[in-house]
Amino acid sequence: MPVMAPDGATRTAIVTVDDDPGVSRAVARDLRRRYGEQHRIVRAESADAALDALRQMKLRGDLVAVILADYRMPQMNGIEFLERAMDIYPKARRVLLTAYADTGAAIDAINVVDLDHYLLKPWDPPEEKLYPVVDGLLEAWLASDHRPVPETKVVGHRWSARSSEVREFLARNQVPYRWYASDEPEGQRLLDAAGADGLRLPVVITPDGEALVEPADAELASKVGLATTPSRDFYDLIVIGGGPAGLGAAVYGASEGLRTVLVERTATGGQAGQSSRIENYLGFPDGVSGAQLTDRARRQAAKFGAEVLTTRDVVGLEVNGSARGVRFADGTGIDAHTVILATGVSYRRLAAPGLDEMTGRGVYYGSALTEAAACSEQDVYIVGGANSAGQAAVYLSRQARSVTLLIRGPSLERSMSYYLIQQIDNIPNITVRTCTEVIRAQGADHLETLTLRDTSTGASQTVDAGWLFLFIGAAPLTDWLDGVIMRDERGFVLAGPDLTVEGEQPRGWQLDRAPYHLETSVPGVFVAGDARAESPKRVASAVGEGAMAVMLVHRYLERL
Ligand SMILES: Cc1cc2nc3c(=O)[nH]c(=O)nc-3n(C[C@H](O)[C@H](O)[C@H](O)COP(=O)(O)OP(=O)(O)OC[C@H]3O[C@@H](n4cnc5c(N)ncnc54)[C@H](O)[C@@H]3O)c2cc1C
Repeated sequence: MPVMAPDGATRTAIVTVDDDPGVSRAVARDLRRRYGEQHRIVRAESADAALDALRQMKLRGDLVAVILADYRMPQMNGIEFLERAMDIYPKARRVLLTAYADTGAAIDAINVVDLDHYLLKPWDPPEEKLYPVVDGLLEAWLASDHRPVPETKVVGHRWSARSSEVREFLARNQVPYRWYASDEPEGQRLLDAAGADGLRLPVVITPDGEALVEPADAELASKVGLATTPSRDFYDLIVIGGGPAGLGAAVYGASEGLRTVLVERTATGGQAGQSSRIENYLGFPDGVSGAQLTDRARRQAAKFGAEVLTTRDVVGLEVNGSARGVRFADGTGIDAHTVILATGVSYRRLAAPGLDEMTGRGVYYGSALTEAAACSEQDVYIVGGANSAGQAAVYLSRQARSVTLLIRGPSLERSMSYYLIQQIDNIPNITVRTCTEVIRAQGADHLETLTLRDTSTGASQTVDAGWLFLFIGAAPLTDWLDGVIMRDERGFVLAGPDLTVEGEQPRGWQLDRAPYHLETSVPGVFVAGDARAESPKRVASAVGEGAMAVMLVHRYLERL
């Protein structure tokens, strides 16, 4: 049970660790002065002691809201400590205390752990430097669902593609889970307890003890507490797609009073949610992980009252007078005055023999995050020359023995940002192989070898490889809009000025005004983000277009 304050309110802990007793006491004193009434301040003078305290609190079911750790500590540094603390209290907000001289090292190391803040020592006056930070973190923590979460358990086989998909699905939806290999004793014990024979994997055990054998995404979503069913039939605004553009639209739509629902096929975050670190998004000088950005955006949308549905695939769009209807794959649907298409793009598949069979068994498209731990001390191959591939290379190089980046062109310069090329140059275990393509993948249960071809000489070579991550360009999956919405020859949605050819409005357009900037060939249906023809393919522009589309929705509704 959580520690309760005398008035019955839940009393949470703020934990601080610093190996210098004087500093440790000073932090605790300042924290106690401001937060002592409502929170328990727990102080430790070594990382081990702090971890012990956290474990004990976990066993007791105490809640921990914020952890502040000194960077320079003798047994393990603050980053390593916070990483381990995350295993115990993943939702606690994390702050690193650093001396000025250590700022550079701290920033470099921040990629390892999703740090919420770093604070320079000394933090005097605390009213200016310490309290505003901790206030913000406590507020964010309280706004999140911070009840102790009994964990979901996934029992699966390392090389089962569906086990890997289920883990990815839970991780991308920020559902905490614990993984058990089916061939290890604890996994076997859980399978026995669930009465499962282990032939169909994974088996997911929900927090209330229900065992789901090989569940589909929709079943899983509903059992782990994600909304999948709309609460009403008619909305002001339906946003299709839960990437940055869709989340941006949902936040602005709901915050401006529109009855807004966001419909997402798999997990919120879209492509950005799969990024290990977005370094160029405004306001995050130290970068932000896609998961963290998504978590914040989703909370923000919920705070303003937007409904967020997951595992609902939109397969049709209909125009019924002034209503716009959205149909789901199961045949049901909802209607609204307006729709924002924010369906982004999906990764293309590489058509080389063996790759389809090995997908989920050593071959992965678009995301490297869930599998990163398994790549420890392994040789990893990545295909792609854009920023997404570069980020994955940097991320995986921390754990892998070697990372080989395979690109078809002669250099990275044309396709990757300069800052990433520099980072890659400085990491000794990353090799870039230019003019190279994958022409075959082979393995029994799991990927074992890749055959690579040098495109300049035609020579091929087979290499041992257990891991291949592909980031090879993307296509909008918009066929379901065929015959309703005008698209370009690659399937990207045309909008605004792109619809007008030599002064002529699009076919079927009956209004006496031209389409608004992000409006499609159907009035009241807008497009934002990567799905739009000629869009910039950036997080910031997707978010911006989501916000702008809502402004145009208002303009449209005023004239309805
Ligand atoms: C690994 C990686 C790293 C990146 N790093 C950066 C970076 O550092 N900086 C940067 O600016 N950009 C980066 N990008 C690009 C950036 O993520 C995209 O430009 C951005 O995510 C586009 O947002 P979006 O909302 O338009 O589309 P997406 O992010 O593609 O989201 C679209 C969403 O719509 C859903 N959807 C699609 N069709 C349907 C349907 N029919 N029904 C229901 N839901 C549907 C999808 O499941 C998806 O969640 C990166 C991309 C990747 C993949």
